[in-house]
Amino acid sequence: MKVLVPVKRVIDYNVKPRVKADGTGVDLANVKMSMNPFDEIAVEEALRLREKGAASEVIAVSIGPAKATETLRTALAMGADRAIHVQTDDAVEPLAVAKILKAIAEEEQPGLVILGKQAIDDDSNQTGQMLAALLGRPQGTFASKVEVAGDTVTVTREVDGGLETVTLQLPAIVTTDLRLNEPRYASLPNIMKAKSKPLAARTPADYGVDTTPRLKTLKVGEPPVRVAGIKVPDVDSLVAKIKELGIA
Ligand code: AMP
Repeated sequence: MKVLVPVKRVIDYNVKPRVKADGTGVDLANVKMSMNPFDEIAVEEALRLREKGAASEVIAVSIGPAKATETLRTALAMGADRAIHVQTDDAVEPLAVAKILKAIAEEEQPGLVILGKQAIDDDSNQTGQMLAALLGRPQGTFASKVEVAGDTVTVTREVDGGLETVTLQLPAIVTTDLRLNEPRYASLPNIMKAKSKPLAARTPADYGVDTTPRLKTLKVGEPPVRVAGIKVPDVDSLVAKIKELGIA
């Protein structure tokens, strides 16, 4: 069974994003970029399935600018077998990503596609669900446990009320939540080895997908600055303050 893992290049989670002065978006100049953390978890899960013998090949795919190949090399250094880079400089929205992934899934016929539950740049949380719908395949989103047995996958899902367990017929789509696993670091020898692993170069046009944005960003702004609190000397003053502000 092949496992397809879509990985997105995003602003590193440790970086505090800066909004461009003209309010048109987030400033990406000289900002550290990394693999979306949920996608690292997806790569890790795919590798563990291969190590357990449930998967035969792990294929990483990234849709994005030339530098997305760095993210793919990270996936290869972690242990993915090969990679596909779909190059575009457009900001690709989840629907277009899902359409490209659908075409790749039809070509590669993976038993599982494991995506992150969301990309931390746009926080869309849409691509996995859209891909499942476009392919007409079952989906197990927000996975905290994934077990493949025969032609099914059992996914424990993190839902509001606790945990939900679903068993899906393969081929299926899974999206990862934080508690699924702790991704490995790529070792130096594996980083070196990754340089010679196959990385195919494609474009959205190869898959017949138009990536022109359908959404228009009107304005991007900083969140409002939090106003400093005040200290009150005793409980009576606290009660008086609460009454004064009308919040009780
Ligand atoms: P989103 O729906 O944008 O929050 O993204 C959910 C997941 O879809 C991510 O964690 C990735 O696994 C995948 N994904 C989204 N955009 C891309 C992209 N440009 N290239 C590869 N994978 C992507």
